[in-house]
Amino acid sequence: MEENEKEVISRNFIEQEIDKDLAEGVYNTVHTRFPPEPNGYLHIGHAKSILLNYGLAEKYHGKFNMRFDDTNPTKEKTEFVESIKEDIKWLGADWEDRLFFASDYFEQMYEAAVKLIKKGKAYVSDLSAEEIREYRGTLTEPGKKDPYSDRSVEENLELFENMKNGVYKDGEKVLRARIDMTSPNINMRDPVIYRVAHMNHHNTGDTWCIYPMYDFAHPIEDAIEGITHSICTLEFEDHRPLYDWVVRELEYEKPPRQIEFAKLYLTNVVTGKRYIKKLVEDGIVDGWDDPRLVSIAALRRRGFTPESLRMFVELCGVSKSNSSVDYAMLEYCVREDLKLKKPRMMAVLDPIKLVIDNYPEGQVEMLEASNNMENPELGTHQVPFSRELYIEREDFMEEPPKKYFRLFPGNEVRLMHAYFVTCTGFEKDDEGNVTVVHCTYDPATKAGSGFSERKVKGTIHWVPVKEAVKAEVRLYENLVDEEKGVYNKEDGSLNLNPNSLTILKECYLEPAVSGAEAYDSFQFVRNGFFCVDYKDSTPEALVFNRIVSLKSSFKLPK
Ligand code: ATP
Ligand code: MG
Repeated sequence: MEENEKEVISRNFIEQEIDKDLAEGVYNTVHTRFPPEPNGYLHIGHAKSILLNYGLAEKYHGKFNMRFDDTNPTKEKTEFVESIKEDIKWLGADWEDRLFFASDYFEQMYEAAVKLIKKGKAYVSDLSAEEIREYRGTLTEPGKKDPYSDRSVEENLELFENMKNGVYKDGEKVLRARIDMTSPNINMRDPVIYRVAHMNHHNTGDTWCIYPMYDFAHPIEDAIEGITHSICTLEFEDHRPLYDWVVRELEYEKPPRQIEFAKLYLTNVVTGKRYIKKLVEDGIVDGWDDPRLVSIAALRRRGFTPESLRMFVELCGVSKSNSSVDYAMLEYCVREDLKLKKPRMMAVLDPIKLVIDNYPEGQVEMLEASNNMENPELGTHQVPFSRELYIEREDFMEEPPKKYFRLFPGNEVRLMHAYFVTCTGFEKDDEGNVTVVHCTYDPATKAGSGFSERKVKGTIHWVPVKEAVKAEVRLYENLVDEEKGVYNKEDGSLNLNPNSLTILKECYLEPAVSGAEAYDSFQFVRNGFFCVDYKDSTPEALVFNRIVSLKSSFKLPK
């Protein structure tokens, strides 16, 4: 009972519409699809659409289709088809054997156009693109009748066939739907539904020299596949009357219905395919999967998990009005997901040497370290301890400010998993940089020994100099300048953050991390979550991307 009640309350507006359709018998099943255009890599916004559509099919025990909307031959590429499939699989949306290409329906779309012509619902026009724009009118003025709209059905059939047979040049003739040139909705003013374009298509080659327009093709694709709920983003709301007109005039039984929701936008993040493409082409980023981007491939490379993206999409919810989500929420989700799953290791990103002067030279002690204090199931590992260690440069200060509890002359701190040490001095080079910190340790304070005579306020991490694994670590900030906003007001260009990438070449990791492979991720204590870069990392020279730091001011909205 309670479970059911909860479910009803948490239904989003799309689910409420679906419930209604099922209750009224409009449909007796739910069949959704994800229809990307293969003209770029998918991004976080697409992830929302994929998970929404796939999630609905799952929830209602229906079906989910993967369909490439490849009706526009200019921009489509096979590279994108492959990357899109990989990204969707990785997200966990499973189309089983239902992978489709809109271009496989070109014949049926052509037949559909012929059917409209025969019904007197479409005509061939000789107006140029510019004239069509002029005749269309504006939001305040009605459109004007197309002088070619009175052609007979026979003439239209013949001309359309000629269009198909390559008799005309690009732009010489178009097929228009006959709807209403005076409609208040401009999309209904006899929209163009077929155009001549002598172009090679990635799937159909040179078979066709006419191609259907999106607003005509999309409803047909949905209808052919038996889609019930065709979910798209808000900018198509004004196109819905045309969508309904197409499926009605083509007399499909159980025609699909379109439902719109608001696009996902993230603050200070470049999501538009067009902009990402430009960054890639201008060489500002290292390809479509540069870890600073929010393409799905980039998020995967950076170390985000499918679970974290699912949590994020869930938290964003589904809405009818556009708004931006704080990027920090995405970071929150990945932190939450990795927190208990990933081993916690010590890694020193900005090393300085610490010498324990009273620790026997040559001695190595194996200490036990928990892999995850909050999740004992992850077990423990060993870390070698000896006289010379690396610590973070910022964990020592010659002259500490108030409330600095880490190392400074005379102060005692805990070395994580090891002993208490007291700073006894330091060395400097000619330029005044601290090069070595000296300390002594107290053997009685070994971690796990139950020592409780004194407390220390600071705990710092370390790695053994001799056994440490050297690695490269890459730290990221937003690609765009947060202060200035994403787009430059004057010329629309991107306001880039010059510090979006910091490469640290000399980092040291505890030896338990050696052998890490592409996509393996860890928490490096106090420094954040890190993932092995699949492109640049090798077993001999590990490269890590920082997924996210540990700190956040983000609070989950109530
Ligand atoms: P972009 O505007 O980034 O270029 P697009 O809409 O042109 O994206 P398509 O390949 O046409 O990309 O999109 C496939 C599906 O993903 C469409 O149903 C579209 O509505 C949806 N989609 C695209 N961007 C977003 C977004 N930001 N949030 C939610 N859904 C989106
Ligand atoms: Mg598009």
